[in-house]
Amino acid sequence: MGQVRYFARGGKQVTQALYERLDAAFADEGWPIAHIEIDEDADLHEASVYFEGEGDADAQTLDAAFAPLEPTREDLPDIDWMAQVLADLKPVRAGRFLVHGAHDRDKVRPHDLSIEIEAGQAFGTGHHGTTAGCLSMIEEVVRRRRPVNALDLGTGSAVLAIAIAKLARVPVLATDIDPVATLVARENIRANGQHNFVRAETAKGFDGPAFAAYAPFSLIVANILARPLMMLAPQMARQLAPGGDLVLSGILAKQRDAVLAAYRVQGLFHRKTLRRDEWVTLHLTRNDRPLD
Ligand code: SAH
Repeated sequence: MGQVRYFARGGKQVTQALYERLDAAFADEGWPIAHIEIDEDADLHEASVYFEGEGDADAQTLDAAFAPLEPTREDLPDIDWMAQVLADLKPVRAGRFLVHGAHDRDKVRPHDLSIEIEAGQAFGTGHHGTTAGCLSMIEEVVRRRRPVNALDLGTGSAVLAIAIAKLARVPVLATDIDPVATLVARENIRANGQHNFVRAETAKGFDGPAFAAYAPFSLIVANILARPLMMLAPQMARQLAPGGDLVLSGILAKQRDAVLAAYRVQGLFHRKTLRRDEWVTLHLTRNDRPLD
């Protein structure tokens, strides 16, 4: 028996509210709920709920959750639908980088720095505003000042570590608290031919033996979340080389000032903020000497 999906499309506010109603009605029972952007310029978004097979969707609950919208029903064939979702992911362009799945190799143009990532196993396909923001910021920062080494803390799929290695061709340490992410990161690093530059290790924050072999870092990128980033501020400052560059993301726009304050106390100066959706990516430096 295949899957059934019910969905509705509309402006972001409408679908976000629908997503929340679906979440309240179905998430506790374990049915997957999704909210995706179809076309940002046209403000077209889509919220869905997926059921396993016939009879699982109680029509009344479903209609109540969708109201005032009408759900559209779609029968999904009995296939590896996760793989299907991945096949549908479009390549993401951020500066010179093109992050794409294996099915989109033909989209790579001669001057692209391509990063091939199979989505689904670890966070970091480039589709999230924070990853794309980091890729753009990395390109700007590295173009201005090539690092001698780098750290990608919270590497997920290793997308950012691979980006740095491809751009700067310097040793990169990629760490993640989640051992599954580390395994996925290693696969992606190898698949992208960056295993001579990038090493992936499991570590929580800066706890672990791997850091000593690299530190201090002339570039650190960390796309985690505002709270852990604020807690890690003292260690970030310690592990960053004088004059080093720090790129932080996973921060909501409204959390920006609090994060900057935590880093300011550690002697790190704000250089630039990039905003994508409700997320910001920050560039900070270790000292306040002017950038050329
Ligand atoms: N760098 C990728 C993935 C970001 S998702 C990208 O930009 O797309 C954030 C990742 O950080 C997750 O894989 C999560 O497991 C990891 N993470 C969260 N807190 C961490 C911590 N304290 N130390 C190390 N990794 C952490």
